[in-house]
Amino acid sequence: MKVVLASGNKGKLKEFNQLLKPLDIEVVPQSHFNVSSVEETGLTFIENAILKARHASQISGLPAIADDSGLEVDALNGAPGIYSARFSGENATDEKNNQKLLKDLQDTPEEARTARFQCVLVYLKHPADPTPVVCQGSWEGSILREARGDQGFGYDPLFWVASKNCSSAELDRDTKNAMSHRGKALSKLIKQMSDT
Ligand code: IMP
Repeated sequence: MKVVLASGNKGKLKEFNQLLKPLDIEVVPQSHFNVSSVEETGLTFIENAILKARHASQISGLPAIADDSGLEVDALNGAPGIYSARFSGENATDEKNNQKLLKDLQDTPEEARTARFQCVLVYLKHPADPTPVVCQGSWEGSILREARGDQGFGYDPLFWVASKNCSSAELDRDTKNAMSHRGKALSKLIKQMSDT
């Protein structure tokens, strides 16, 4: 079976393909069908993941998988949340987002710098599927006072992983995938898809 992935991220495509191969599922990127990116107008990760999956399924004519993820910081009432990629404004970059995060937390003491990454994955069998499979994974950590490490992307250099005594940008890819929000959501999705 072929499934379209509502993302342009090559790393994600590789990971999904590796993990879904045993189920005889081939994951194809949405760029194969010229799927444009859809406006993420939802107010939750779930809504945005469904919007992306529905759009990709509509255009490709295939079942679709989409993910939506972000960072939730307790001292900022859950921000940046669904706005994680665009936290610092229209021309946001990882660098600018991290700078804004550090600035917003400059007066926040250590014990109040708790945060978590969230990931929601959605599988739609067709665009009008009324019962999408929805899986969620989260990863607890806290926000550092300066960047550490150069692996990963996004907020990884500022995300402290206490159990490994390093930032998530200092973890190798396999270690991160095994413990991350995305890794957890993905193993739940695989379990659900193999049960159905
Ligand atoms: P998306 O769901 O791939 O669009 O990710 C949304 C945004 O959340 C990214 O642009 C990052 O800023 C942040 N994010 C999500 N997952 C991670 C992660 O594993 N590490 C660091 N940042 C992440």
